[in-house]
Amino acid sequence: MSTQAENIEFVPCNLCGASSSTTYYKDGKWSIVKCDVCQHTYTNPRPTASALPSYYTEDYFQDERHKKKFYHVDGSPKAVADSYLNRVADVENFCEARGRVLELGAARGAFLKVLQDRGWEVHGVEISADAVALAKTQNNLQIHCGVLEDYQSDLKFDVVCMYQTLEHVLTPDYVCRRSAELLKQGGKLIIEVPNRNCFEMKWSKRRRVLSYDLPRHISHFSPDILAKHLKGVGFSKVHIYYYPDKYVLGVFNFIGRMINLVRPSAPAQAANAQTGTATAKQIPMARISSGIMHRAVQRISSFIPGWRFTIIAVK
Ligand SMILES: [Zn+2]
Repeated sequence: MSTQAENIEFVPCNLCGASSSTTYYKDGKWSIVKCDVCQHTYTNPRPTASALPSYYTEDYFQDERHKKKFYHVDGSPKAVADSYLNRVADVENFCEARGRVLELGAARGAFLKVLQDRGWEVHGVEISADAVALAKTQNNLQIHCGVLEDYQSDLKFDVVCMYQTLEHVLTPDYVCRRSAELLKQGGKLIIEVPNRNCFEMKWSKRRRVLSYDLPRHISHFSPDILAKHLKGVGFSKVHIYYYPDKYVLGVFNFIGRMINLVRPSAPAQAANAQTGTATAKQIPMARISSGIMHRAVQRISSFIPGWRFTIIAVK
C-alpha cells in the first residue's frame, strides 16, 4: 500500500537542473524553494506524476476562477468568442496571415475552435481524457490525449501557445525546448502564467493561496527569469506583457471614462466583425492596441504587476 510519503518527490530545479535551493514560501506540508543558481521558484517536494491527478478533483474545475471566465454575473453563459478576445489578439498580432497553431493544455478545445472559425489550422495536446472527449463531441476537434513528451509530429507550427498550463507541468524546461523545435523559423511561442511578483500577493493571503495553488502549480514564474530561460533555448526576441493590478486597472478605467479615451480595443473590433456568414478571409487579423493608455498601463504594471503575465517569444 502506498503511503503519502511515497507520493511526493524532491527534485532539482526544473528550469536549470541545479540542486541547491533556499526555502521561499511554506504552506502546511508544501514548500516553494528558490534555485540558488537561476532564481526560479518551484514546488519542492512535489506530488509524483502518478499522484498528481488525485489533486485535480471536480471541485477544482467548478471553482470561481473557472466560472467567472465562462459565465456572466447573472449565471448566463458568455459567448465563447468573447472569452478569448485577448488570446486571439496574442495569436494574430505580429502574424501576417493565418497558419498552423498548436495549443498545449487545450482542454475542451474552446479556444482552438474560435481560431479554427477564424481560419487557423488547429492542433492541441491535453492531458485530461474527459476534456479530449468533449473536444470531439462539442467542438468536433481531434486533440492528442497526453503530454508533449508523447506527442509525435513532423509538422512545423506558426504559433505554439499555452494559457495557464506551463505552471502545471513537471517538465517546463523540456516544454520550452520542444516548443522551439516545433516552431517554424520566425514562429512564436505564447505563454501565459501566474506572476510570482504579483503586487497583491505581498499583502493578500487569499491571492497567495490562489496564485501558488499548491501543490497543483509546480512552477512559480517570474517574467524576467522565464524570459531569460527562453532566450537560452533558442528564442531571439522575447516580449513581456504584464497584466495590470486590479486597482491600477480600476484607476486607468476611471481616467479613461473621465477623459473619454476608452474606445473598443482592436481585438474587440476584430471579433465584432466576425458575424453572420463572414468567412475567415473577411475576419480581420486582431491587433493589440499600442496606444498611449496601453503603454502607460504596461509601464506601471512592470512595477506593480497583476496576478499573471504573458510572454511572446519569437524563434
Ligand atoms: Zn535553477
